[in-house]
Amino acid sequence: MPPTQRLPSPYRPEAEIVARHLEFLQGAVDWPLAAARARPWVEAVRRHPPPFWAMERLLKEYPIGSSEGLALMRLAEALLRVPDAPTAIALTADQLGRAEFESGSDSALARLSDAAIAMSKKLLPGAEHEGGLLGKLGARTVVAATLRAVQLLGRQFVLGQDIGEAMRHADADRRALPLLRFSYDMLGEGARTDADAGHYLEAYRQAIAAIAAAVDPAQPVEANDGISIKLSALHPRYEALQRERVLEELVPRVWTLCEQAARANVGLTIDAEEVDRLELSLEVFEALAARVAAEQPQWRGFGLALQAYQTRALELVQAVVAIARRHGLRLMCRLVKGAYWDAEIKRAQELGLAHYPVFTHKQHTDIAYLACARALLQAADAIYPQFATHNAGTAAAILRMAQGSGANFEFQRLHGMGEGLYREILGSAPATGAASTLNGHPATPGAASAAAGQMPLRVYAPVGRHRDLLAYLVRRLLENGANSSFVHQLADDAVGIDELLASPLRPQPAPSLALPPQLYGAGRRNSRGLDLAVPEMREPLLAACAGLQVPAVAPFELQQVPAAVQRARAAFASWRTVPVEARAAILRQTAAAMEDQLPRLAGLLVKEAFKTWGDCVAEVREAVDFLRYYAAEAERIQQPVLLPGPTGEHNELRLTPRGAWVCISPWNFPLAIFTGQIAAALATGNTVLAKPAEQTPAIAAEAVRLLHAAGVPREALQLLHGPGETVGAALVAQPGIAGVVFTGSTQVARTIQRALAAQDGPLLPLIAETGGINAMIVDSTALPEQVADAVLQSAFRSAGQRCSALRLLCVHAGIADAVIEMVAGAARELAVGDPALPGTDVGPVIDGEAYEHLQRHLRRLRREARPLLPPGDFPPASRLLPPQAFEVERISQVREEIFGPVLHVVRWDGDPQAVIDEANALGYGLTLGIQTRIDSRAQALAARADVGNVYVNRNMIGAVVGVQPFGGQGLSGTGPKAGGPHYLYRFCAEQTLTINTTAAGGNVALLASVS
Ligand SMILES: Cc1cc2nc3c(=O)[nH]c(=O)nc-3n(C[C@H](O)[C@H](O)[C@H](O)COP(=O)(O)OP(=O)(O)OC[C@H]3O[C@@H](n4cnc5c(N)ncnc54)[C@H](O)[C@@H]3O)c2cc1C
Repeated sequence: MPPTQRLPSPYRPEAEIVARHLEFLQGAVDWPLAAARARPWVEAVRRHPPPFWAMERLLKEYPIGSSEGLALMRLAEALLRVPDAPTAIALTADQLGRAEFESGSDSALARLSDAAIAMSKKLLPGAEHEGGLLGKLGARTVVAATLRAVQLLGRQFVLGQDIGEAMRHADADRRALPLLRFSYDMLGEGARTDADAGHYLEAYRQAIAAIAAAVDPAQPVEANDGISIKLSALHPRYEALQRERVLEELVPRVWTLCEQAARANVGLTIDAEEVDRLELSLEVFEALAARVAAEQPQWRGFGLALQAYQTRALELVQAVVAIARRHGLRLMCRLVKGAYWDAEIKRAQELGLAHYPVFTHKQHTDIAYLACARALLQAADAIYPQFATHNAGTAAAILRMAQGSGANFEFQRLHGMGEGLYREILGSAPATGAASTLNGHPATPGAASAAAGQMPLRVYAPVGRHRDLLAYLVRRLLENGANSSFVHQLADDAVGIDELLASPLRPQPAPSLALPPQLYGAGRRNSRGLDLAVPEMREPLLAACAGLQVPAVAPFELQQVPAAVQRARAAFASWRTVPVEARAAILRQTAAAMEDQLPRLAGLLVKEAFKTWGDCVAEVREAVDFLRYYAAEAERIQQPVLLPGPTGEHNELRLTPRGAWVCISPWNFPLAIFTGQIAAALATGNTVLAKPAEQTPAIAAEAVRLLHAAGVPREALQLLHGPGETVGAALVAQPGIAGVVFTGSTQVARTIQRALAAQDGPLLPLIAETGGINAMIVDSTALPEQVADAVLQSAFRSAGQRCSALRLLCVHAGIADAVIEMVAGAARELAVGDPALPGTDVGPVIDGEAYEHLQRHLRRLRREARPLLPPGDFPPASRLLPPQAFEVERISQVREEIFGPVLHVVRWDGDPQAVIDEANALGYGLTLGIQTRIDSRAQALAARADVGNVYVNRNMIGAVVGVQPFGGQGLSGTGPKAGGPHYLYRFCAEQTLTINTTAAGGNVALLASVS
């Protein structure tokens, strides 16, 4: 099979792509005519709203951007899954308590609740008994009513709790519209474990069997109901970097579903997910298409959903058309605009990419949609287009474009959305006389039905229990509630019809959001990153690493330490006089050089520090951010501050450098921490004696080389590679140093503190950043999938060799079994091995000594605690340790930091504050994770915790310079925080300058200022 066509990078200038789309659309869209066509539909929907219009109205009254709308959305996301009554009450009180639902004497919440209760009595017979929770909460009317309201919201979007119920509802809908078709979707989060994937596979199988039993295999597949599947539900590692595994394991799994669907002549469409999965999904799709061609060539129901908001949407359409032609198939293509816009924007910002992978102007997505539609309609021999939209303008434009094209196609809508619009589109055809030209292709089923005034329409119909609909529900609320959304504007009578149907064919010159490099404003450029999911970004890294040898670095002789300190002191005299702007310019130049050399630096990190590719890229970026941040900070704080005082006197406060600093850094961030310490000292005018970790001198030498090349004098920055016990110890004991900045163990920090205290002479500052026994507290409102993701990243990424890493997971007893099972299942899926391979998640620990140390701990833990994961059977020489987790009875059993992929888990019940107290009692204070949907609880727990960095509802590693200043307290360090606005002060001495300006001849300024 020829390789799947490679797509261009998603990160390209938006304006250029839009220009190409408009060129492609030239002459194809007559917008004024399309708008005229859509106008009566819109008017009619506003005059006669469809049954569930209430939801749109609700979102209008409580927009999602308001605290009320946010409260509704948060409740919708979490309330239904909370297993225990006290937490459900706390969550409801938290969300509703902060939102202003009162409107005059008539409380809007009360109205909502009353309406919810009344409606639920009518619509949800027997709902009181569901889960027993409502029974328990009976007395708490508001909570019960809120639950009802949320359930009702869910009901709007879900066709049935199981496939049988959904199909019965579908049949009921078909009584009014016989040609209505359905594509069923099994709700749920993506699989995190192999067992989850197995459950989804079974659910899809059963659904296809049920659909198969109800359809007529003899009729064209377009006329039958079908199924939509998510590949992320069918494999726990459906990710670009797991390509080989995905092709080997996922493709056969999906093939069983395709075969089943093909035999019954049922359509099967693969949903579109995140941008970083696009290439992989295309490859999976082509592999399956090849099998369809070989084994089920008569089947015309295999399809893929494509998102128009992606900057490479048009190329994607072309790639799918090419696949169809290559394999001689007719494929289905569902064109959507895309549902994960906010998440894509965030990811691009986090990764520091040059552009966004999605359009940033809504009308650019609309333009792309029409361009893709045109390309699909032009490929009628190979593609059956399925236009999924609730936008009247988009639908009308497509109808006009299709006119005379001869293409056979259908429209699609989501269950619970767009009913009014399609009622009008379907109904308008005979009345307007336009039916015979709707599709203009009488020989095809779509066209034939259109000619009869029955435009084919398929409803995407989610199926699942309440608990499984939450993520889907939130997507729909976001979609309905967004100001730019057509359905939102349609529900708002204040939006005039001209505005609603304004032409989208108006390109905007600049993105609507600052591009990721400008995330931090004009003062500091964000570091440039890479998306490892994109092959053309990944390949230069792998190539740079392939032939790379780690250069040897000559060790520093112990007896040379005094002379080195002398040189640093001598260099200080001139470096301090270099203006801060010039020093900052040198650091910025180094930052640019590091960015340019990212592949080589990342390759060195892989080879010398055994870090995985994702970690390496993040580390180079962090070093770059430190350089730029401290450059800007030094310029900010080293300006003299004028102070008020009596007339005739000039008073100013200024920050001056202290002298020669000793910077001692660890092997776990051999570039970022090493560079950060040095950059802070140099930026403020100090000179540096840099002692890297013994295990990682080559990467340190490379950083020093770049700093020298950019203009730091050799004597102002010296590299002293050697053992901590000798070279490090000699440095901190050496008279004449001005201070020490150290990152490493608490024990070594203490030794340094004692050495400094023992020095005669000046009292020296020490900045120490040490380890922690970092906890994550999870209450029963948390989403297990999100918790599992956060735990895996925090505990096992970098083989647990981060001082911020999660060591102690404290889970509420009500969800502990489910969370533990998911964490353990997901941990088993991690790839442990050679860090040079892009798919590796967990590489070896740093050296044999660390490995032995960990093994000793593990032997003890296996005796004292309940192991949750198998020990693995890697040979000791590999230094590989698969993720390990142990359940312990009490927090106090965890006494010391275990620096590796080892997690302790403890269950809790009752007061979460008590859990924080116990964690505080351990004496460390670095990072804390909190997983809860109760905002006031998150705030209260954070306030009570004696830790430096608190992360709510996310992982607890990867602090970003200037965004999450990093550093702890207690046994975890002295502060100030690295990458924060107070850090540089510690490298400076303060000087007040007072000048008597009247000394020579009197107060001229005073005399001149009065008349
Ligand atoms: C049958 C069906 C199947 C679906 N399957 C999928 C699927 O597999 N994968 C998936 O991701 N979605 C899927 N969706 C959801 C779909 O993406 C949204 O329903 C769709 O985007 C709404 O578009 P619209 O034309 O109805 O509304 P409109 O209001 O015209 O468009 C809204 C859309 O515009 C885009 N947008 C909003 N703001 C901006 C902005 N500032 N810049 C650029 N673009 C912006 C977003 O995509 C947003 O959803 C499906 C929808 C349907 C109807």
